Order: sequence, then structure tokens, then C-alpha cells
Amino acid sequence: MQDPNVKIALPPVVSRLLGALRRAGFSAYVVGGCVRDSLLGRTPGDWDICTSARPEQIRRVFAGYRQILTGEKHGTIAVIVGGVPYEITTYRVDGAYHDGRHPDSVRFVPDVRQDLARRDFTVNAMAYAPGEGLVDAFGGRADLRAGIIRCVGNPRERFEEDALRVLRAVRFAAQLDFALDCATGEAAVAARDTVMQVSAERVFTELDKLLAGPAVGRVLSAHGGILTGAIPEIAPCMGCTQPGRWHCYDVWQHTAAAVGALNTAGQEEKSARLLRWAVFLHDLAKPECRTLGPDGAAHFPGHNQRGSRMARTILGRLKAPGYVMEGAAGLIAVHDCALPEDRLGTLQMMSRCGVVFLQRLCRVKLADLAAHAHNAAVEARVRDVRAFESRVLELSATACYSLNMLAVNGSDLIENGMAPGPAVGRTLNSLLQAVMEERLPNEKSALLAYVQSLQKEHQP
Ligand code: ATP
Ligand code: MG
Repeated sequence: MQDPNVKIALPPVVSRLLGALRRAGFSAYVVGGCVRDSLLGRTPGDWDICTSARPEQIRRVFAGYRQILTGEKHGTIAVIVGGVPYEITTYRVDGAYHDGRHPDSVRFVPDVRQDLARRDFTVNAMAYAPGEGLVDAFGGRADLRAGIIRCVGNPRERFEEDALRVLRAVRFAAQLDFALDCATGEAAVAARDTVMQVSAERVFTELDKLLAGPAVGRVLSAHGGILTGAIPEIAPCMGCTQPGRWHCYDVWQHTAAAVGALNTAGQEEKSARLLRWAVFLHDLAKPECRTLGPDGAAHFPGHNQRGSRMARTILGRLKAPGYVMEGAAGLIAVHDCALPEDRLGTLQMMSRCGVVFLQRLCRVKLADLAAHAHNAAVEARVRDVRAFESRVLELSATACYSLNMLAVNGSDLIENGMAPGPAVGRTLNSLLQAVMEERLPNEKSALLAYVQSLQKEHQP
């Protein structure tokens, strides 16, 4: 179906690239994610172009430009304009898939409709060109309006061809806040275990995008069953009940609600990412640690530490970046710990863990608590975390809690007569302790005077 009335504003460079291909006698469109995002009123991340021109013809049309040819075998030439690569791909259909990952071959075809038919979801299978309008052969625009992720063609076959699509379906549902079409959802559940065939890095990337999606809470809640294909440790969490006063959800629904409640505002991207993974994986050890008390309430002794080890195993398996693994595992190991309520205890924790870690820990705890039962006991805990968070913020601006903030350093002590050696470090640590306890002000003269008085005391 072609609709000439649809108008999408293309960046001038993209219009020029399409124009160049068309003037050379080929057909050419923008396609996929950029069409979807434009119709949704969002700004596309990148603009992909597809064309009837063969790779060697694309190279000729753009001979005056720098090109990247690594994708040429699959029909893709990246043309660099103003330092930005634009991917231009020959219309193609994929040959048979035998490993659920890669087509055995690709075949170039003359018609854009054939190219659209190999794409994963109807909302991703639309093409657009100025003057011609929208080419929408599979009802993508109707699904976009209705908020539905639906496979192009038979979902079972499409997931069988490429198991990554199982995760892409869930990822797009979370990113766009869409529902899975019934048949697509059922086929995704049926195909979940084939996700194991997909490379770890690609699984990580899809899950990572899913976790950052605005509808992640709802999508995790609804589609945990599909995700067990990527992370089998999720399965025992589904239906693992948590009787007692603290919880109103089973472990999986709690996880989904906690990820949905996580507030990453003000966090830089890496920090936000490791926080999302930390909350996603924080309770996975609960099924293994579950015990029931005499009152019938569930307890999960040791699930912090064990969960931290599980997170390492899972993130290692997914070949996650080191900072995600270290950051998430570190937070999970203490996510349930008690927080000090006094000034000194807070300073000591700041000294031990660092302010950045504690701020992240508070985000994890608040997300976790937001997914608990709603009652006075939980609200009191939320208040405690918030009070701790403000105390950390205030003390980090005003107090001394680490050796490098102390008004004296090792050289100062040595210049004032202390012999170099391990005693210097010990003395600095006891000065820090005294300053945190407010027994001494953090002032150079006062600290040196105190050290001298100690030395005199110890002289025979
Ligand atoms: P975004 O880049 O915002 O994540 P996108 O839709 O651009 O979303 P890409 O992975 O960049 O997604 O893929 C570009 C297009 O290529 C998709 O819109 C879709 O048409 C097609 N596509 C990508 N991956 C697959 C796949 N595994 N199976 C079928 N078609 C795919
Ligand atoms: Mg893209």
C-alpha cells in the first residue's frame, strides 16, 4: 500500500543522497527505524537508505565521497557526509537460515516491497521517499497507531530464522510502550530457548535497550516468560511468593516493578546503565535462599551475597562491559543492608564506600522499596533512605571523610619530625578518625599540634 499524502521531513543530507540515487536512475527510500520514529513524531537516531542500486552502483554514484565497504557483501555501503556515515543498502532478501542467526546468503532484488518483507516487524517495515510518500505493505502504520509489535509474515517462521527477533520484539515493546500482537507473543514464548543461539553481545545489547525503555516495568511484568530464554535464572522467580508484611508481589513481579520505578535522573549514562542492571538482577537469588518462618513469613537469608555472585555469572555469560558487572555486583551485594542513622556512621560508610557508590545504593533501595507492599513500615524505610541520601549529600559538601581531604598529609608529618614508615599511615588514619568523630577540627595547625602532643607522650 502506498500513501502519497504522508510527508516526512528529511534532513537535507538524506534528501541529497536519495536525490543522487534517483537522478542516477535507481529507486531509493529511507527505511525502517527512521520511518517508524518519524511517524511517531520522534527524532530518528539514524537514517537508513535502501535502493535498487547494486553495491558497485552505489559506490559509483557516491564516488566523490569517503565510503566504508565492510558491509558490501550484504549490500551495504556507508557513505560519509560531514563526518557522519549514512548506510545505503541494496534491496535484498535473505537466503535460508540454518543456524537461527545468519542467513546463509543474501540475494539482491529489484523491488522495495521484497526488501520490506524480510524485515522483522510491521512497524519497522515501511519505506518513504519524498514525492512518492509512504510504502507500507504490511499494515505498519495501523500497528503504529494501535501500539502493536507484530511480525511481518508468520511469527514462528520469522523467529526460527533469526532468534534475536524474539528479544527485539520485547525490546521494541519496552522502548515504544507497545503491546505484542497475540500470535507474535505466543510465538516468542515458544521460541524463547532459541535465544541461546544468539551471540552473548547481541543478547546483552537487546536486554540493555529493553531495560532503558520507558515501558520496561510493564513489559518485564508481562513477558518474563520470554526472557527466561535469555536469562534462565528468571524462571524460578516467577511465582516465588513472598508472604509477610513487606511484599505484595512475587519475586519476578517485584523485580519488574522495581526496574520500572528506578529513577536514574541526573545519572550519567554508564551509571544509569549499571543501576538498571543492578535492579534487574538484585533479587534473582531469592528462590534459592527462601525459608519460611514459624509465622509463615518468607525470609531470604544470604540473598544479597548470593545474588551478587549470580549477577557476576549472568553478566559474565552475557559478556557485559566490566563496569556494568563490577558496578551491579557491588550494589547487589549490599542492596538490603541497614543504613546508619547517625552522622559518624554515615561518614564512616562514606569513607569506606565512597559517595558515588552510596548515592547509587540509595537509588537501588528506593526502586526496591517502591516495589514493596504499601504500608507504614515500608514508608518508614523509604523515609530512612531519603534521610540518609540527604545526609550523604550534605556531609559530602561540608565534612572530611577521606585521607585526601585531611588538612595534613604524610609529607607534613615527616617535615614535622615523624620518621618515614608505616607509622605515618597509621597516624593519618587516626587523625581522620578523630576529625570524623569531631574530636579535632580539620585544620593543619591543630592536627600537627595533636601529633606532637602524642609524640611527647610516647617519649621516655
Ligand atoms: P534502533 O536503531 O532505534 O534501535 P531500528 O529499527 O533502526 O531501531 P536497527 O537494528 O537499527 O533497528 O535495524 C534497522 C532496520 O533493519 C529495522 O528497522 C528493521 O527493518 C531491520 N532489521 C534489523 N534487525 C533485523 C532482524 N534481526 N530481522 C529483520 N529485520 C531487521
Ligand atoms: Mg537503527
